[in-house]
Order: sequence, then structure tokens, then C-alpha cells
Amino acid sequence: MASLLTLDEAQERVLEHARPLQSELVPVADAGGRVTAEDVRALVDLPPFASSAMDGFAVRASDLPGTLRIVGESAAGRPYDARVEPGCAVAISTGAVVPEDADAVVPVESVVKKDNTIEILQDVLPAAHIRLRGGDVAAGDVVVPGGARLVPARLAAAVASGVAELSCTRRPRVAVLATGSELVGPGAALRPGQIYETNTFMLASALAAEGAEVVPEPPAPDEEAALREALERGLAGDVLVTSGGVSVGEHDLVRAVERGLGVEEVFWRVSVKPGKPVSFAVRGDTLVFGLPGNPVSALVGCELFVKPALRALQGLPQPLPRFEPGQLAVSLRRNEERDEFVRARSRVDGDVLVLEPVVGQESHMIVRAGAADALIHVPRGNGELPTGAMVQWLRLGEA
Ligand code: AMP
Ligand code: MG
Repeated sequence: MASLLTLDEAQERVLEHARPLQSELVPVADAGGRVTAEDVRALVDLPPFASSAMDGFAVRASDLPGTLRIVGESAAGRPYDARVEPGCAVAISTGAVVPEDADAVVPVESVVKKDNTIEILQDVLPAAHIRLRGGDVAAGDVVVPGGARLVPARLAAAVASGVAELSCTRRPRVAVLATGSELVGPGAALRPGQIYETNTFMLASALAAEGAEVVPEPPAPDEEAALREALERGLAGDVLVTSGGVSVGEHDLVRAVERGLGVEEVFWRVSVKPGKPVSFAVRGDTLVFGLPGNPVSALVGCELFVKPALRALQGLPQPLPRFEPGQLAVSLRRNEERDEFVRARSRVDGDVLVLEPVVGQESHMIVRAGAADALIHVPRGNGELPTGAMVQWLRLGEA
């Protein structure tokens, strides 16, 4: 046991091999969720012109308080070139050009309008309710740094700044291959000894959500020739993720067959529970993950190793899982040798986030795991973590 890699060591080795993929130009319409390969700079000032933040009247602040004559209207989407002489005001809508001689906008709620005049009883500060040209960003400034996921607001920032296409890292092409002679496809009639194959579907959806272009392969039986053919196909992409067949059983052939295909193993077995027999290997630039077959082990291995690799391949600077603090609702016994990942439900209780482990922690119990939205990290060691202990946990999707 002492010779097993720790989680940190194993993750470090994965990341050493997961270098950002090359970049490509992506139109903004397709760029949501992609990762920028370089800094994105504004092509225009934003706002591009001084504009009104309110519906109201553009005025000269020094005229107020007072009664002003309405001499025109500046509406959104139209130029406004006329002068605003002292004692005059221009009706203006939100987002419309502020006339040159005006230095403040008075909201429509603060004026008394009579025919062609407005009466304003209060002072107004210069620049009130005016959005300055370049007040959000100036042309040439960085609006989204390189290595950033284009979440909705970042994508909007790029488009608002005049950008039409962005340099993004290529999406990793990921083959997903389940192995095991007992596996059958969804809904088929089960013959004795058979179970439904779940990992392809679970992994494909998890990895697609992480930005991968997933190629699901048909499951392969525990037979050398069939495995060799399926693995060779899977090795064509940037990443191959297999499940099953990496443990110590007579029929666990995945690593041996991979070796015959020129795959070089970086590690096998990590001191985590579930998921100890996980393997990681490379062939050329292709990263090869061998997740254990039990669905919960595969799920945990995907979170701890595969998703970080995909984030690193896309150029994200902090690819490791982001754990958050929370409080245990019950006590948990620590495992002496392995870091354990306990499926739990999270709830907010006052200003504390409380974690309640689900009943049924065995690694084949995917239905129990499906009820969880959190993975609690229980560091290896002696004794137990008492009720109320602060722990680190990883979000597993929606509550
Ligand atoms: P293995 O890692 O191949 O020893 O498999 C461990 C356990 O996981 C066995 O009970 C398998 O039947 C089960 N298993 C393996 N692959 C899958 C899969 N793709 N979907 C569901 N269960 C699986
Ligand atoms: Mg198997």
C-alpha cells in the first residue's frame, strides 16, 4: 500500500502531460463555453459614445435649478448633432447620444413638463446619469484574458467590444470506451449475468459538459482481439477514457492490451477510495485514462483526473477540482490508507453549508450516488471526523 501514489502526486503527473491544444478562430456565435487562447482586446470604446443612463432631459448643469426650453430629441440609435444653448434642454432616451454641450441628464421623474418647457427644482451634478465614452473599457484594453472560459458575461463583453471571432483552444476529442463482457445497451432484455452499460453515457455527458468533443465507442468485451481493435480506434483522439478491466482480475486486460499498442503507462493505482485501480498512460500526445468499471468509481475518477486534464488541454490555468468548505452533519470514519470521497447531499442551514452523506456508499451503487450533489473529501488518517467538522467538498452537479 505504501507504494501507491497519493492523489496529489497522481494529479500532478496527469497535468504534466496535459498541455494546451492548439488554437483556432471561432465565431462568437459558436464560442459560448469555449476557452480563450489569448487575451481578447476591445476594438471600440465601450460605450462607443457618451450616452444617457436614463430617460429624461440632457441639460447644462449650470442652468439648474430653473426652467428650460425643450429644443429637440435625442433617441437611441440616431445621431444628434445640434447645439444645446444655455437655457435649453434636449429630450433624451436611455442609450441615446448625449449632445455635445450638455453635461448632465435629469431623469424624467424629476422634471415638471409644461408644453415646450421643463421646470427643474433641484441642482444636478455635472456628469449625472451620463455613461462616459469608454467608461466600461477603452479600445485596445483586454476585455477577456487568455485562458478564460467564455461564460455568458465574458462572451457578451467580447461582442460588446466589437469582437466577431475569437482565438480559442481546440476542443479536446475524447473517445469513451466501456469494457466488460457483461455489458448490454440501454433497454435490452437482460440475460443471466448481464447488466446495463452505464459508464459510456455518464462519462460522455460529463465530458461534453467540460468542453470535450466526445466520441462514444460501442462497449468492448473482455477479449484481447476485440479490445485491441476498440482501443486502437479510441487512441486516434486527444484523450481515450476507458472503464473497466484495469483491476487485478483474470479478465482485466485493458492495460496489457494497451501496452501492446505502444501505450506507455504513467501510473496505475492511486490511494483513493473509490477508484484505486485507476490508470493513466500516454501514446504520443494522446492521454489514456483507465477508470475502474464500478460506476461510482468511474464517476469519482472522472472528477479527480479526467476533467482536470480536459481543463488543462483547453488552457484553463487552474484545472484541478475546486473544493469548497462545508460542515459534516454526521461523523465519518477515516480510512487509514486512502483519501475517501463520500457522496453527500448539501443544504444551506443559516450561514453554513451542511453535508449529509447518502446511505449506500458502495462503489456499484450508482442510484445512491445519483441522489448526491456533493463529494466530501475525507483525508486518509486515523480515527474519525466528528459531527460538525469542517471538510472540503466538490460540487457534483445540481442539488
Ligand atoms: P471491472 O472494473 O471491470 O472489474 O468492473 C467492476 C464492476 O463494475 C463490475 O461489477 C462490472 O460489472 C461493473 N461495470 C464495469 N463496467 C461497467 C459499465 N460500463 N457500466 C456499468 N457497470 C460496469
Ligand atoms: Mg470487468
